[in-house]
Amino acid sequence: MKHIQYLLPWSPPGTERSLSLFRFGSGSRKAYIQASLHADELPGMRVAVELKRRLGELEEQGRLRGVVELVPVANPIGLGQMIQATHQGRFDFASGKNFNRDFPELAEMVAPRLEGRLGPDASTNVRLIRSAMREAIDAMPAATSQLDGLLRLLLQQACDADLVLDLHCDFESIMLLYALPQHWPALRGLAAHLQAGAALLAESYGGNSFDEACSVPWLRLAERFPTANIPPACMATTIELRGMADTDRGQAEASADAILAFLAEQGLIEGHWPAAPDGGCEATPFSGAQYACAPHPGVVSFLQPLGARVRVGDPLFEVIDPLSDRQSVVRASTDGILYARERLRFAQPGLWLAKVAGSTPIRHGRLLSD
Ligand SMILES: [Zn+2]
Repeated sequence: MKHIQYLLPWSPPGTERSLSLFRFGSGSRKAYIQASLHADELPGMRVAVELKRRLGELEEQGRLRGVVELVPVANPIGLGQMIQATHQGRFDFASGKNFNRDFPELAEMVAPRLEGRLGPDASTNVRLIRSAMREAIDAMPAATSQLDGLLRLLLQQACDADLVLDLHCDFESIMLLYALPQHWPALRGLAAHLQAGAALLAESYGGNSFDEACSVPWLRLAERFPTANIPPACMATTIELRGMADTDRGQAEASADAILAFLAEQGLIEGHWPAAPDGGCEATPFSGAQYACAPHPGVVSFLQPLGARVRVGDPLFEVIDPLSDRQSVVRASTDGILYARERLRFAQPGLWLAKVAGSTPIRHGRLLSD
């Protein structure tokens, strides 16, 4: 195992922040796994603890058939953002920006470097595109903030990987994945190993989150160079490892086992691994997810448990104004699975309280919330 540390720019004098990457194995194929880019989403960090230990053992046993890079703390900036004993790891205090948005747009950056160089051979194209991506990030002007420096550093580590796993969680949630439809046939196995209850697919979520920043450039380059053979060579997925409180040891061990079994399926680890259990979830379009908000302020009571299968019109939660006694029941607008609930029990304007994964597209444009 190699431990590599990268200094982040713009640390105030007298302080220093760095990004730690652990590299296991060797070979031409690479998986990149990072945890807790939203720094208060700690199940991923707990899973990374298991992965680090297990990957070290597998490396010692000579069982790795490629490179696995692990970043257990993807966001050292957000990890330190405590306010009155509450962790605020989603938005950068300095800029107000969501840590998982607006990564550099690699397709735009590399296209001019690839003009006239791509041809009919997919593997040659993949090699050329990856090296153009690394060069383009190297050639970017100096970072303008610590956040800017962190985002490009993360993308630089991941952009040449065959497989990228970005470990997140929701407030209260079932296990689920976000991915491109093009990658679902392969990722179905990962979802099954993780026993995910939902998979939300979209070609673009809108917002250039980390997994999109890794996977979507390959689609954009294939459109830009239609006569060249450009495969979707970076299979990237965001895994929601249930909810924020789900850091139990047993859950983390099971998630690490599932990820390692999938890496083995992908040919990156050798040996016998348990097959994925039968009956994995079906994917649904991310545009089919209902984000249910309250119509007025008040205290919230949920009327369905996480993972409930609901039908249109089923009650999801009620909100009650304790002074006026105004009471509203918010209902499912689609048939599907109640996959996530807000942690707070007080309704706020425009913020979702429950999310339902349905199979009929009901939302358009930008699909991600802030
Ligand atoms: Zn997150």
